[in-house]
Amino acid sequence: MPDETRHESADLEDYQVSDASDTLEGNPGDDPLDRGVIPPERWSAGIKTAGEQESLDQLLAEEETPPSTPTTTCPKTAATTPRPTSTSTGCCSMTARIRGRAGWSPRTRAPIRTTRPTWSPATSASTAGPPARRRRPCTWWRTTTPTSAPVTDRGQLPVAELHLHIEGTLEPELLVTLAQRNGVSMPTLDVAELRARYRFDSLQSFLDLYYASLRVLRAEADFYDLARAYLARAAVAGVRRAEIFFDPQTHLANGVQLEAVFGGLTAALADGARDHGISADLILCFLRDLGADAAGEVLRAALPFRDKFIGIGLDSAEAGYPPALFTEVYRLAAAEGLRLVAHAGEEGGPGYVREALDLLRVERVDHGIRSMEDPDLVARLRDEQIALTVCPLSNVALRVVGTLGDHMLPGMLDAGLLVTVNSDDPAYFGGYVDDNLAAVRRAFGYDDTALAALARNSFGASFAPAPDKQKWQAEVDRWLAASGT
Ligand SMILES: [Zn+2]
Repeated sequence: MPDETRHESADLEDYQVSDASDTLEGNPGDDPLDRGVIPPERWSAGIKTAGEQESLDQLLAEEETPPSTPTTTCPKTAATTPRPTSTSTGCCSMTARIRGRAGWSPRTRAPIRTTRPTWSPATSASTAGPPARRRRPCTWWRTTTPTSAPVTDRGQLPVAELHLHIEGTLEPELLVTLAQRNGVSMPTLDVAELRARYRFDSLQSFLDLYYASLRVLRAEADFYDLARAYLARAAVAGVRRAEIFFDPQTHLANGVQLEAVFGGLTAALADGARDHGISADLILCFLRDLGADAAGEVLRAALPFRDKFIGIGLDSAEAGYPPALFTEVYRLAAAEGLRLVAHAGEEGGPGYVREALDLLRVERVDHGIRSMEDPDLVARLRDEQIALTVCPLSNVALRVVGTLGDHMLPGMLDAGLLVTVNSDDPAYFGGYVDDNLAAVRRAFGYDDTALAALARNSFGASFAPAPDKQKWQAEVDRWLAASGT
């Protein structure tokens, strides 16, 4: 099917899925890698030349771009030169190129089903409904080992995770499963090799890997499995409350309808509450590099699903896309009663944080670490106790800071800021929330009292009902008391 035709009829039901039996080797010609644009062995090392990058961009654009391609391009992420290590990188800068290239065409969408979703055929043998699939124990997450405080009789420290992109939880094992199920050609389906590639050594290699990975998310069941896997891993990490970001524009650009995204994610959250006792909600994020008009379009398209998400966020590359651009979109969201957060002060400077506060009226700032460059802003954040969702391992992975020891977390806490620790995109950045807590414990010598304070912050900054917050914070107190600290 010609590419343009495929994109015009990119509804889930119309998606061309090959038989699973022929996907292990992939379909020659389906993937730019297979066409010899980039030798597979160079994929893991990143794209080395501008010519190769240009060829890849061209091919991917041909294959993935809907007819109405947006023109916004992030100047930072479009660059092919390695990014400097002394400046920050938006935590979702990784998706900037993807999103800027792909875009989407708004469509009229029916309201989401209020009953359990009917599962789309995910494999050639998949004919049953959700019960059988959901009862199957998920084991892939056991491949990542929680590394925080040793689990004792008192259990893991209870925490809330407030800065987590569900797309950034796609581990290699699940990626392979979904690629095979959906007939998506990948450079390799070897889990060990994929995991090795997750240890990217440059932003460029990371961007390419991330882009390729998200193509495997095609059906409602895929989003269900993605979120179920995260929640299973989060339960091990001690997560009681999760406020989960998702990027509908990315999936719309890949031909996936909002019904599938919302249906899969919300079903997983419901089952996660049942099986793990995790309270979770969704926060819809706009890709700032696609611009304010696109943000407004996706918000309006998502309003029929209003009861499926609690708030909005703003992610992707910060540089060149200040919060001010999105003032009207946030005003619309506020009128809908949505909670407001935004990434700011990671790649952008303190001015971005001020704009997020003053113009977008955000209730939390995601990252916000560069606020520390502005003493007046620090004083305001402290006085108003505005929460900052900090992601230490992400900051190291993207070289926002040189090493974890260089991180501004201790300074932020010393300044009296309401800081929480989170994982951002844990499959890519070295760990889940417990791994992040363990890392800051090691790096800064934090004891149980300090970690408990971070956990209390996380619940206090959440959008959960007050009684739940109090219940979880009491649980933190019991955890700390059990430590004898
Ligand atoms: Zn983020």
